[in-house]
Amino acid sequence: MNQQADVAIVGGGIVGLALADAWLARNPQDRVIVFDKEPALALHASGRNSGVMHAGFYYAPDSLKAQLTRSGNTMLREFCAERGVPVLKSGKVVVAQSDDEIPILHTLYERGIANGCTLEIIDEDRLRELEPLAVTHSKALWSPLTAVASPAGVTEALGERVRDRGGDIRLESAVTSAGPGWIEVNGTERVSVGHMINAAGLYADRVAKWFGVGLDYRMLPFKGLYWYGNWPKGRLQRQVYPVPDPRNPFLGVHLTVTVDGLAKIGPTAIPAFSREDYGKLRDIVPKETWQILGLYPKLMTSKDHNFAGLLRTEFPKYIRSHLIKQAQGMVPSVEPKDFTVRGKPGVRAQMFHVPTRKLEMDFVVEPGEKSTHVLNAVSPAWTSSLAVGEYVVNRIHTDGLNESVKG
Ligand SMILES: Cc1cc2nc3c(=O)[nH]c(=O)nc-3n(C[C@H](O)[C@H](O)[C@H](O)COP(=O)(O)OP(=O)(O)OC[C@H]3O[C@@H](n4cnc5c(N)ncnc54)[C@H](O)[C@@H]3O)c2cc1C
Repeated sequence: MNQQADVAIVGGGIVGLALADAWLARNPQDRVIVFDKEPALALHASGRNSGVMHAGFYYAPDSLKAQLTRSGNTMLREFCAERGVPVLKSGKVVVAQSDDEIPILHTLYERGIANGCTLEIIDEDRLRELEPLAVTHSKALWSPLTAVASPAGVTEALGERVRDRGGDIRLESAVTSAGPGWIEVNGTERVSVGHMINAAGLYADRVAKWFGVGLDYRMLPFKGLYWYGNWPKGRLQRQVYPVPDPRNPFLGVHLTVTVDGLAKIGPTAIPAFSREDYGKLRDIVPKETWQILGLYPKLMTSKDHNFAGLLRTEFPKYIRSHLIKQAQGMVPSVEPKDFTVRGKPGVRAQMFHVPTRKLEMDFVVEPGEKSTHVLNAVSPAWTSSLAVGEYVVNRIHTDGLNESVKG
């Protein structure tokens, strides 16, 4: 049967759902369909992350991440309040481990202030008051507006709001091919669409290429492993993060207190060998592995990243005791024997920009014919999702692309 939609969204992660939500808020009469290949929501990054609502201080002030995380944090908190989704207002401390890290801490503070965040540089005494378990080298950064929620819980609640607004979410519906004005679902069903929005996460580059978009990018997935602790609920009170290496787009292994008050350690940023490489043999897709390994020579010779160093430091984190010891520098009472329950791993949909040999640091939104493509929806796109949805939908309207919706 040939079906029709004004807007078809490929991918029912938090970004795809936020796009549907924003579109329907603006055009409630439109027929909006979200297609996801999986039998349930939140089976990929949107349900496999730390659930931290970032405040927005890490990102260069002229970036989309800076623009959309500060507002996304507020929008996500308001959304959770509206829908009764529990949020733990934990705040977060970024702790230093050496003199070398203090200038980076100050850079983060200045970026944060430029991005409109509430932040404070604190000393060791104030850190002890805020989080008695954490230690720092002389100074730390305090972000009171960082919070935490269940990543899957928030994603499912957003799915409900999309349905309440009249959107249709089709599960077990893989978009297998697409072009301007049409998509093909599960290899058989053809749907006529006014405008297609690509929010396919780990497969966003592949969908974009059907439209000749994003040809300079290659997907370079990175795996995040977690371990849960057996500590009583509430023993850890704040999110505790290290000072990040500014050459990488990752924030470093941290200690998260979950919305239920449990402590967990992670995630790693271990290069993954397939897009959905969650640790099972069946997750490995040889063709993807070859494509990923084919990028290594380019990465090794990139002057912007110390990829060899990243490989040396990340692969040993497969060993639980080694990973957990990393956290001891921030919270000395962490013991490998206490953190033995494996969390669900997640994979970051990180893009590699081939001409510059750089890991893309920002979100990327590119137009195509009768389509828009969200690429590199990496952290903190879960926090920023509602702001990303609003931004992309506004851009589609202001760029005049909405004319094609009814076309
Ligand atoms: C380990 C880890 C920790 C993180 N921590 C945080 C954090 O604390 N805070 C934060 O803000 N962000 C965090 N992030 C980032 C955040 O999880 C992502 O930025 C966000 O979830 C991206 O959402 P998405 O909708 O783009 O992707 P996804 O959730 O991956 O959704 C994409 C969807 O597209 C579907 N799909 C793909 N191809 C097709 C197709 N052809 N047809 C139909 N459906 C398709 C998939 O099934 C999937 O459901 C973390 C990420 C990871 C991996």
